Amino acid sequence: MALITSEQVIRWLERFAGLVAENKDYLTQLDAAIGDADHGANMDRGFKAVLAKKSELEGKDITTALKTVAMTLLSTVGGASGPLYGTFFLQASMAVGGKSEITPEEFGALLEKSLAGILQRGKAAVGEKTMVDALQPAVETYQATLKSGKPFAEALVAASNAAEKGMESTVPLLAKKGRASYLGERSIGHQDPGATSVNLLFRAARETLT
Ligand code: ADP
Ligand code: MG
Repeated sequence: MALITSEQVIRWLERFAGLVAENKDYLTQLDAAIGDADHGANMDRGFKAVLAKKSELEGKDITTALKTVAMTLLSTVGGASGPLYGTFFLQASMAVGGKSEITPEEFGALLEKSLAGILQRGKAAVGEKTMVDALQPAVETYQATLKSGKPFAEALVAASNAAEKGMESTVPLLAKKGRASYLGERSIGHQDPGATSVNLLFRAARETLT
């Protein structure tokens, strides 16, 4: 049976940090259009700080590793995305009960708990042009694919595809939450930066967890 080890979870975080660094300017450009041009810088600062703690993460169980990530993000990333991603990883850490390897079903429960944390913290719903537009369909698609009896790898690919579609779906939306909502109608026609970084998170998962 496929199990996800803490080494793989650490590789997931490292790959996400790499994708964020590669896409830093792109994320910032997206945020320049409908925000304050700092999403790329915010995420890169946070995940560079996570990478600096790599030696602290190695050999730890999944809860400890994810909790360290959450605390690092909460203390280094400002803005909306710091507390939201911090909440995501904090809830993720608490979902796995100190284990060093988890099943694909347990990974699904982790995703659900993380999503619930973001929904509770940010109070955004699908269609309001936020990271939730990529995250919620990705989590729901992961769960539905796994529950239909498909293998873990297929569920991750389906989730990643759903995140990408969700990210693209933000373009025509009117922002109802966060800084972009101050623009009203002028937020229409631009892709949401947070939904774009969530797409990178699932791309990293697809590449590293199987
Ligand atoms: P800030 O908006 O404070 O500058 P960032 O630029 O780092 O923070 O992050 C902006 C992203 O945060 C947005 O693109 C959006 O996806 C996400 N976001 C903002 N507010 C919310 C919210 N209430 N719920 C979920 N996501 C949100
Ligand atoms: Mg911003």
